[in-house]
Amino acid sequence: MNYEDLIQKLIDQLTELPSIGPKSAERLAFYILSQPESLADDLSSTIHDARSKVIRCEICMNYTVNRICQICANPNRNDRQILLVASPPDLAAIERAATYKGKYHVLGGLLDPLSDITPAKLNIAQLESRIHNPQVQELILALNTNVEGEATAYYLTERLSRDNLVISRLGLGIPVGADIEYADEKTIAQALISRN
Ligand SMILES: [Zn+2]
Repeated sequence: MNYEDLIQKLIDQLTELPSIGPKSAERLAFYILSQPESLADDLSSTIHDARSKVIRCEICMNYTVNRICQICANPNRNDRQILLVASPPDLAAIERAATYKGKYHVLGGLLDPLSDITPAKLNIAQLESRIHNPQVQELILALNTNVEGEATAYYLTERLSRDNLVISRLGLGIPVGADIEYADEKTIAQALISRN
């Protein structure tokens, strides 16, 4: 393999990452080459470390390095509330707002029949078994307000309803169609207070 092929391979692999187009990939590839070898070594070993050591929490399915994540293991977090998010970045956004003191569950996506995302492909069974615990009094659906988010919220409300369980949705502070992941802390805090 000559050097052009090697650089092209690097560019191609970087292009596979989300929001990295061919131009950005090329810029990154040449930047990496221009820097001391230690940058490439550190970067690749950090990526490898993160990928090999980070696993899913057995309870909430968020990322963790232990069997049980720090939030699930924290006795000061309220066990009576479970806040459902589609993905770990949404959970991180809500944690940054530092308002919510209950537990979480990560669904792993939103229902989308066109892309073959069916209920069986999401972490619904795990959530269902947690909800069966009568100690849980409230399920807060913090799902994006796009078509998939609405369909998922409707499906879950039908499937998980039981006596003495309040199923609420994050309030209207989050604009319709907006991503929770990118909402600012004040908006999230307000949405939590005005959930319905
Ligand atoms: Zn957890």
